[in-house]
Amino acid sequence: MTETPAAEQPPAPVPCDECQAGVKHLHFITYFTWLGDELVMVPNFPAWICDVCGRRDYDEKSISWLTMLLNPDAGKPQKPMSAPPARNRPPAAPPSPQS
Ligand SMILES: [Zn+2]
Repeated sequence: MTETPAAEQPPAPVPCDECQAGVKHLHFITYFTWLGDELVMVPNFPAWICDVCGRRDYDEKSISWLTMLLNPDAGKPQKPMSAPPARNRPPAAPPSPQS
């Protein structure tokens, strides 16, 4: 065993809130996510997996790190997905010529 600094203790198993019986342990899995039309594979991604029901929870920090990596617009305000396309808007009145 190698000594670990106090700040880097191995994560302790946490009780599973899905089945209430198992505990979730940290595993490193291959995480799949979609980036637009492309399937992105992330090896060695940390996930908490229940040893009874198999529920997977991903580490929040890792998810946000991954999201930041994959999203070139990270940090910019997100446009709402429900914004109507321009063609559905009433046509803008042509600018009246100023004389
Ligand atoms: Zn469980």
